[in-house]
Amino acid sequence: MTAALIDGAALARSLRAQVAERAAALTARGHPPGLAVILVGSDAASSVYVRNKVKDCEESGIRSVLQRLPEPTPETDLLARIRALNADPSIHGILVQLPLPAHIDARRVIETISPDKDVDGFHVASAGALMTGQPGFLPCTPYGVMRLLAHAGARLAGAETVVVGRSNIVGKPQALLLLQADATVTICHSRSHNLVAHTRRADVLIAAVGRARMITGDMVKPGAIVIDVGMNRDETGKLCGDVDFDSVREVASAITPVPGGVGPMTRAMLLVNTLEAAERKR
Ligand code: NAP
Repeated sequence: MTAALIDGAALARSLRAQVAERAAALTARGHPPGLAVILVGSDAASSVYVRNKVKDCEESGIRSVLQRLPEPTPETDLLARIRALNADPSIHGILVQLPLPAHIDARRVIETISPDKDVDGFHVASAGALMTGQPGFLPCTPYGVMRLLAHAGARLAGAETVVVGRSNIVGKPQALLLLQADATVTICHSRSHNLVAHTRRADVLIAAVGRARMITGDMVKPGAIVIDVGMNRDETGKLCGDVDFDSVREVASAITPVPGGVGPMTRAMLLVNTLEAAERKR
């Protein structure tokens, strides 16, 4: 069997087009959706991510406001800026690019963002809403994965699903979303015994680890749907996922590529969240 490719880039394109249409409708009524992005310091990867987010906004008719702050910015200054953005009615979403410099407490920064502008879905109120099934913003990566699974026709109710990784931004919210979709969910992590015994049971396997090509074909159940969240560099510097694409595609029924799978969907879901934040205000 050669797995079908789940094309995240194409799905993200169509989502962006839908966002653009709805953003234009809001703008026509005099309420353009606005996203504020704060970058502290000059980390190269963070600068690229922020540039992409601003570009995505431009292409989708969302007004973006980028605030670049120098590395030594005191935490109190950053918190004051966030409070000002919380009070600004033209701003519907606030995103502080992580990681932050070591002298700033990222948790305190995230908790200062108003939950109704928390378009990254990292605020404890958003996490609590997800946990208890209340409306709230979903973290963009697991939200995008759920869209990819729907697009791939995954039947989640009652299915064995395995998430490898338990971070607050991917693994844990991913597991909760799968549970909400009535899947049977197993979460694996660095202390799990016999990882392969778990992954081989999965009808849907989601890898969010950060280790290049660690999920190999022999770890995958024939016919499984495999979603690769990982974004790593291999020993030659090439971008690759947590999944060994070549061996897994011979076993799985469907698989996301890296690049072109989860990454573009994460970007698209930020636009969706920002638009929804703006629509909720109207
Ligand atoms: P993270 O915070 O470092 O978490 C990694 C998780 O993997 C941890 O829970 C860790 O377990 C687990 N883990 C580590 N080694 C393991 C092993 N040998 N076996 C099983 N589990 C193991 O990473 P993250 O932020 O969730 O990101 C994960 C990957 O996704 C990274 O490659 C990141 O770049 C990528 N990512 C991509 C996107 C995108 O848009 N495509 C978005 C976010 C992240 P412990 O908890 O026990 O340490």
